[in-house]
Amino acid sequence: MTTAALIAEKISVRFGGVRALNDVSLALEAGKVYGMIGPNGSGKTTLLNVLSGVVKPTEGHIRIAGEVPRAFTPEACFHSGISRTFQLIRLVEQLTVWENVAAGVDHAAGARKELPALVDGAIERLGLRQYAKMKVGLLPYGLRRRVEIARAIARTPHVLLLDEPMAGMNNDERKDVARSVKSVVSKDMAMLVVEHNVPLLVDLCDELIVLNFGEVIARGAPNETAALDVVRTAYLGEGHASTA
Ligand code: ADP
Ligand code: MG
Repeated sequence: MTTAALIAEKISVRFGGVRALNDVSLALEAGKVYGMIGPNGSGKTTLLNVLSGVVKPTEGHIRIAGEVPRAFTPEACFHSGISRTFQLIRLVEQLTVWENVAAGVDHAAGARKELPALVDGAIERLGLRQYAKMKVGLLPYGLRRRVEIARAIARTPHVLLLDEPMAGMNNDERKDVARSVKSVVSKDMAMLVVEHNVPLLVDLCDELIVLNFGEVIARGAPNETAALDVVRTAYLGEGHASTA
């Protein structure tokens, strides 16, 4: 038995009277891509926020590669091996692609001499070599998304969390990002991708997890899970709105 890259046990989050997550448990294995869908407001971003230390759960705990992070903070979760991208891209526009990717490698590693190799490797993997010296602010949206993914994987995390990496993109850009996501799949890393585009996600992931009203209502093989009545009613019934 290998240790799961990420274990979340009985996570609940309440914001005042709102129950954003209710008793959610997950185990993500390294080498696998997990897709997550659910209607707007079902708790997807909140779950990624818990897993990356942005939101402290009301109940429950997480383990990353077998270890409990020393605190529920972004720094501690990052240190334990969680990397993420955000629903709205967060890059420093005035810095170059290379500098942005380098910012994803923690300071301890930054002090070591392998930093340039880690950054170059990530840039290479995402097909960004020709843009390395360009300022991010000059790049189109699809390329920025790739830079964000390169930044997240440069320090080889145990877990990569992607929050709607294809939102707000046209078809070609979406396919481009899907290719990028596939290109970073690694046997050493578990990936959790939140995405509204069900066909693209089904194609991308090994397992589909469905949230509704803060609870996991289905999980399993992507095609079969997406086709379940309970999933179609909860999710597909309300259209494919893709907003914050
Ligand atoms: P999703 O990403 O699936 O659209 P969210 O995780 O953003 O859903 O939201 C889940 C629920 O929690 C929603 O009802 C949302 O309004 C609420 N919520 C999320 N973040 C906060 C917050 N910081 N304060 C209060 N309520 C929040
Ligand atoms: Mg969200």
